[in-house]
Amino acid sequence: THFGYREVPSIDKQKLVGEVFSSVAGSYDLMNDLMSLGIHRVWKRYFVATAQVKRGDRVLDLAGGTGDIAALLHERVGEGGELVLGDINGAMLRTGRDRMTDRGLVRGFRYVQCNAEGLPFPDASFDLVTIAFGLRNVTDKEAALREMLRVLKVGGQARVLEFSRVRADWFRPLYDFHSFQVLPRLGALFARDADSYRYLAESIRRHPPQDELKAMMEAAGFARCGYRNLTGGIVAIHDGYKV
Ligand code: SAM
Repeated sequence: THFGYREVPSIDKQKLVGEVFSSVAGSYDLMNDLMSLGIHRVWKRYFVATAQVKRGDRVLDLAGGTGDIAALLHERVGEGGELVLGDINGAMLRTGRDRMTDRGLVRGFRYVQCNAEGLPFPDASFDLVTIAFGLRNVTDKEAALREMLRVLKVGGQARVLEFSRVRADWFRPLYDFHSFQVLPRLGALFARDADSYRYLAESIRRHPPQDELKAMMEAAGFARCGYRNLTGGIVAIHDGYKV
């Protein structure tokens, strides 16, 4: 029952990620709350509250999933702005659209099924591009970063919220225990899907840590790149600008 994703070529990783998210779409929101003890809501609020965005802006939320970030961003761009929720997975996107509609959030939203590695938008389309807990699932992260830069307007900001490297040494064993022992069991119990949550834990460990991701953003062509750790580096917010 273990994924052999270490050796498989990238096309299979994409298929695997597709299966994981189709499988977890229905239980995704509940699982986020359980796994992070609700803290992901605070991270997301902070991520949006400190983003460079104003009323009337056009915003792209990549790997937008069930729409947590998009809903928060919508409060900031207002009715005059536009929010495009992009995700590669139809099931996640549908869950997101249903959630938005249930909350009365309809105007100013667009849903686009797309791969972050090749965006179906013209150059300089957006004031802000965000990707939250999504970049680590993308196979060709360099391509995704280049695409984020391309679709940004000059002066625009790209923001990445992602799991990162915990800073304190003493905390790492606890964190690994949580990731590799607790998470799959929660997944088995509440989502009947331990494998998907095992994949998620592994993908977190394999994601480039703070300085490496910052260097990747610089290499992609972003200016003024920087990051801020949240909760001791469990997650980090990376920023880059198009100049
Ligand atoms: N941003 C949402 C949030 O913070 O709750 C969802 C995050 S979820 C962990 C990751 C999402 O990334 C999934 O919805 C998945 O379908 C999407 N995804 C994975 N690979 C992708 C890709 N190459 N392009 C676009 N979306 C992708």
